Amino acid sequence: MSHYMTGLVVRGAGTPAQLAELRLPEIGPGQVRIKVRAAGVCHSDLSMINGTLRPPHPLVLGHEAAGEVVEVGAHVTRAQVGDHVVLNWQPACRNCWYCDHGEPWLCATSHGVAALENGLTLDGAPVHVTLGLGAFAEQVVAPENAVIPVPRELPFEVAALLGCAVLTGSGAIRNTAGVKPGETVLVIGLGGVGLSAVAAARAAGAGKVIAVDVTEAKKGLAEAAGATDFVVSSDSLSKDIRDLTGKLGADHAIECVGRASTIRAAWRATRRGGQVTVVGMGAADDMVQLAALDIFSSARTLKASVYGQADTDIEVPALARDVLDGKLNLDHLITDRITLAEVPAAFDRMSRGEGARSVALL
Ligand SMILES: [Zn+2]
Ligand SMILES: [Zn+2]
Repeated sequence: MSHYMTGLVVRGAGTPAQLAELRLPEIGPGQVRIKVRAAGVCHSDLSMINGTLRPPHPLVLGHEAAGEVVEVGAHVTRAQVGDHVVLNWQPACRNCWYCDHGEPWLCATSHGVAALENGLTLDGAPVHVTLGLGAFAEQVVAPENAVIPVPRELPFEVAALLGCAVLTGSGAIRNTAGVKPGETVLVIGLGGVGLSAVAAARAAGAGKVIAVDVTEAKKGLAEAAGATDFVVSSDSLSKDIRDLTGKLGADHAIECVGRASTIRAAWRATRRGGQVTVVGMGAADDMVQLAALDIFSSARTLKASVYGQADTDIEVPALARDVLDGKLNLDHLITDRITLAEVPAAFDRMSRGEGARSVALL
């Protein structure tokens, strides 16, 4: 029996994302089929279509999603039909060197960026799916380790965000930066990830949490997430941050944009011996220049945080419990509830820096 469904497809570089009818493959051993119920519009999807990344085409967009398992292949033990699950765009194999050494977020089987084929076809030809998922679609076929069961009480729209923005932002604060009570945290770029980082910094007991974005429009969202200060980004950003931190600079800067210019701004706004955590995924040719003497004398640390430096199988269910227990409030994160057909308009809003997360509900 063939299954057809609708998905949001980009047919070639520079062409618009459009709904198209896709044919689902029969699922194989170890695979599951998920009916998508909510899918968030993440900046990495925008990067797939605005030239920042150069994925293969045709491509089904989307990777931040939650849904319901509707079919399981042979030997699947992790999920049953009817389970509510968060989709994991970088599942750990639990067998490679990284997984064996406690760094499953760097799993050697992870595809890292872009896209791969999973048997879906468009007009009889194979298509690629973003980060192994292609979640802006009615259904997703994935290996069983790409689903993380969560309690049925958790709303799908919240569950979707746990799979990318929230895990990434909160993991950057807790796991990579290791923010301690009283420390000053600067967060640059207030999309879904940045706002999640602000909330996590607050929850970690940070002193000042200084939120930065390009327009005043994000101020209300930043404050709702727990920011103590809001600064509109400008050429004088490092001076502005020093003025707010007794001339010292921030203990931590969390860069959630993925641009050389903002990574440098984060570096300069951090105190001597402080730490810069790069969360944003930037372009391959956007070079960050730092002086050799500055690297030595500033004694700062520059780290990257991939997928929140988290063991997703442990931390996503933990985040779900925090939401259900009222310890983690994500209400402010979702600013637009949309249909699949409205996702391209959400990319436009994101390009203009408007709103926080748009979530497609299916
Ligand atoms: Zn994402
Ligand atoms: Zn692995």
